[in-house]
Amino acid sequence: MEITRQYKYLIKPDKKQKEIIIRTFGAVRYVHNRFVEDARNKEFMRGRALSYVEKYRKESPFLRAVDGSALMNQIFQLQDNLGKPMRFKKRNDSYVSYSTGNLVKNPIRILGNNKIQLPHLGIVEMVYHRPIPEDAQIKKAAIIRNREGKYYVGITITYKVPDHNDKDLDFENSVGIDYSSPHFFVDDKGRMVDMPHFYLKEQGKLAKEIKKLQSMVKGSNNYYEQKRKIAALYGRVRDQRADYLHKLSSEMADKYDVICVEDLDMQGIAQGYSLGKRTYDNGYGTFIGMLEYKMKERGKLLLKADRYYPSSKTCHICGYIKKDLRLEDRTWICPQCGSVLDRDRNAAINIKKICIKTYEGRRVSGHYL
Ligand SMILES: [Zn+2]
Repeated sequence: MEITRQYKYLIKPDKKQKEIIIRTFGAVRYVHNRFVEDARNKEFMRGRALSYVEKYRKESPFLRAVDGSALMNQIFQLQDNLGKPMRFKKRNDSYVSYSTGNLVKNPIRILGNNKIQLPHLGIVEMVYHRPIPEDAQIKKAAIIRNREGKYYVGITITYKVPDHNDKDLDFENSVGIDYSSPHFFVDDKGRMVDMPHFYLKEQGKLAKEIKKLQSMVKGSNNYYEQKRKIAALYGRVRDQRADYLHKLSSEMADKYDVICVEDLDMQGIAQGYSLGKRTYDNGYGTFIGMLEYKMKERGKLLLKADRYYPSSKTCHICGYIKKDLRLEDRTWICPQCGSVLDRDRNAAINIKKICIKTYEGRRVSGHYL
């Protein structure tokens, strides 16, 4: 099986490289807007990205000096979005990323000593904190500038992982987990895992800095300085959270052969249950995404239960469905069999049961996941 992933690294372009990057951001924005204009004015054709680039380069010779692959990729991206009006708008803001391909003529290469070779930029300093898997193939690279003014490269790679083999998996060594607020999740053994709320912890600090910003003259040097400071605070919270989620997901992927989760609509939860910021902050969706590829890498299984399966309302002992279970009912007694059920643990047990049952059902009928 082949996995596609993006690895992101901090890069430190020198002055000249920064100029090239900024010029490319501008050129990509220009091409974006020209293409949108063309698409609005006449019937539009898919494909032929190269001929658009050539046409725009004829009109605006400054485009000749920048990475053609970045311009092509911008058109590819827009063509993917044809017919999606929300994403098909002109851009006024300065473009903060572009994507460039790994071509024979202009290759992307990770070099030793924290350096990377990038098309049109040459050799750029990079903080190579996490090696990409051996035998990985580099497909493309995105050059990104964030709100703090830091530069990153996002390298898209593909690599092969062993196909999982059911015979090698111990289905007894499985776990079901249920998203649980204000905790993070509860598993089918009743283990409760909390997520440190980094964002909430730093919220007081952030509020103070935002208030300061509001008292400043918009557009002044101090104002931009303060904006960068706030972006840095957000950035720190994001990094801490990602670290924590990486550790937790690796531990679980090492430990279990099969992990069962609910296929959640996180946005729905945030709206319907009005947990708002807390839900978004704790990154459960990100966590599931990490589990997904980490299990794949190990030749193991992540199974997802249908999001409409009533995992909380079903008694895991007898199967009775308590339709009027309320969100605030943390424990309930099954009217049919009399079991006392902990809401979250009961849900986790059900998720595990239904996932494995569904998987085995498909296996028997010959339809693998
Ligand atoms: Zn029951």
